[in-house]
Amino acid sequence: MAKYVPDITTNRWVIFAEGRTKRPVDTDKSKSANVNEICVFCPGFERIPGEEIYRVGEGRAYERGWKVRVIKNKYPITDFHEVIIHSPDDKLDIDRLPLDQVKLIMRVYRERFNANKDLGHSIIFNNVGEVAGASIRHPHSQLVVVPKQINLDTLPLEAVVNTVVDNKNFVVFCPNFSQWPFELWIAPKRRGEFFGQITDEESDDLAYVLQNALKRLIKHLSGAGHYHPGMPMVSFKDGPAYNYYVHHGKDWYIRIIPRLVHRAGFELGTGLSVNTIDPVDAAEALKEEDIGQTLEEKILNG
Ligand SMILES: [Zn+2]
Repeated sequence: MAKYVPDITTNRWVIFAEGRTKRPVDTDKSKSANVNEICVFCPGFERIPGEEIYRVGEGRAYERGWKVRVIKNKYPITDFHEVIIHSPDDKLDIDRLPLDQVKLIMRVYRERFNANKDLGHSIIFNNVGEVAGASIRHPHSQLVVVPKQINLDTLPLEAVVNTVVDNKNFVVFCPNFSQWPFELWIAPKRRGEFFGQITDEESDDLAYVLQNALKRLIKHLSGAGHYHPGMPMVSFKDGPAYNYYVHHGKDWYIRIIPRLVHRAGFELGTGLSVNTIDPVDAAEALKEEDIGQTLEEKILNG
């Protein structure tokens, strides 16, 4: 059971979730590769990781044939904690999966958001890479429900400026209030709704812009790195490392945060963020990045 402890003077809360320490970690590079040969999120091991809640695709519960699979987290942060396994593929994540698969994942996000929405605040998030907090490599997202009476310290949707990509229903941009280098926000054009209210068409459009944004980010920050004034040679040295989350409240958005820097003493002591990359430059660089789109794709999707 999760335990919620308030700080009366600031109205902030801490969650104590002791069971989390028992969870297996397979992103630890110091271990030899064959220590964790079995991936419990891969097809064939459906009975091992936790109770199956939902699936898209073929097959019965706990059997193969699924395309996206949702299970209970065995090591939950709160009392309702789900794992959304992106596909049977152990390596490919949102940026490299076929677009149709990403569309299925977005439909599952919506389905699970709506299934949990009356239980509390539903937060959907994805951690990629060890520095971003991932403990199992097989691409997956998570959904955690926090009781409604707990205050969450979250940002409202920022003003849309510094556009990187846009299509019929969404715009991807680098807000002027960017706390992290190269953070990207995805805003729906139909504003003031909860995430669970997106239509099928919007859900498909979201799959496209999310994939497109991640492709740009990863392409730009991988390899030898790029020179940016104020932050020479930024790169994902050990592979992509980022978080994104779907804002749980009204006027939803998605915020993608690449993990290029660590928060240090000054930031922890003041609550102020130091960002060495101007979001205007970040947007320009990401917009220019060549992700191998055809002209037709560019015209179709903005
Ligand atoms: Zn796997």
